[in-house]
Amino acid sequence: MTTHDDHVMHTWNLTRDTDSDEISIDLWTDGENVRVDGGPDDGHDDDRGRRAVDQLLSKYAAAGYRLVRDYAVNSPAVQDDTDGEDETPDGGPEKCHECLASVEYEPNHSSDYREGPAWLCTGCRWGQYVTA
Ligand SMILES: [Zn+2]
Repeated sequence: MTTHDDHVMHTWNLTRDTDSDEISIDLWTDGENVRVDGGPDDGHDDDRGRRAVDQLLSKYAAAGYRLVRDYAVNSPAVQDDTDGEDETPDGGPEKCHECLASVEYEPNHSSDYREGPAWLCTGCRWGQYVTA
């Protein structure tokens, strides 16, 4: 059913013998998103990761489903710890090229022609946008 599973970390397949109903539960690589295919919760989304999966599995077990198989699909995504707005990126100038005053990082600098992260001199306000 899933044609594109790059976002899936782990899948659980369940079935019920009485009516051959099938359920698949996908845990996404972010470790948070859970998606249910088939069964009473078809199309259900959850963002509580393994906790939601465990709850669903015991719920379905109680409803007569049995786990056919579960398998890893992709490695978990690497969490980016440097996601904060105030993080100062590497590679900035240490001193102003013009007046040698210290330079500070401005995550949201705006000028007439551009807006975005920039290095700004604390003295003469010489500035240089951060290029990714
Ligand atoms: Zn300067």
